Amino acid sequence: MRLRNIPGSREAIGACEYVVPEESECAGKWHEIFGNENEIHTEVGTGKGRFLMELAKAHPEINYVGIEKYSSVLLRAVQKMEENPLSNVRFIRMEAEHILRYFAKGEVGRVYLNFSDPWPKERHAKRRLVSREFLDRYRILLTPQGHLEFKTDNKDLFDFGVEETEPARWEIKEITYDLHHDEKMNQGNIMTEYEERFSSKGNPIYKYIIRPCN
Ligand code: SAM
Repeated sequence: MRLRNIPGSREAIGACEYVVPEESECAGKWHEIFGNENEIHTEVGTGKGRFLMELAKAHPEINYVGIEKYSSVLLRAVQKMEENPLSNVRFIRMEAEHILRYFAKGEVGRVYLNFSDPWPKERHAKRRLVSREFLDRYRILLTPQGHLEFKTDNKDLFDFGVEETEPARWEIKEITYDLHHDEKMNQGNIMTEYEERFSSKGNPIYKYIIRPCN
């Protein structure tokens, strides 16, 4: 993502009631934070937050946590939330590598990854959000029935993600190599900012839904 540093963005998101402070001990406390017992779903690399907020509007019975590492990007999501507040959405500015500091074991029902950074160099494979190192982390925070949904237009990253499932002991429940022409998997699909941009250029969108094996 091309990134422009926005001066004051860190302070602005710090002052927003929808952003959970990084230093807060929120692991195991998400039901308290939302003030209800609804299921918690998270999107890692939420960007400007459109997907998460659309989903939250469609599913008021679910609580959503958007994770984004850059304040300048998260600021856009926060500004949208201030215009149209949603009680079932919170954001947290953090590097996903530290996700287990922020969620307790079995606290999350679903993880969404959308158009994650590809990290094309082999030596950076561990940084890919679909790597086995990340799958090990998601396995811990997911509920026993939980699953992960990943969408991208990047074939190399998608193939890598598919190959990582077996060694990481996850199983593929559903997969498509052309989401927008897959009647079943496209049902209820909410487009992300990147999905709209890349599919309008004619790129097919790949998607899998996976869950940890016991
Ligand atoms: N999900 C959005 C979409 O589909 O439109 C944004 C996609 S953008 C390519 C990837 C986003 O993930 C960026 O905003 C980036 O800052 C964020 N991101 C990448 N790696 C991350 C990490 N390790 N921890 C938290 N956020 C991350």
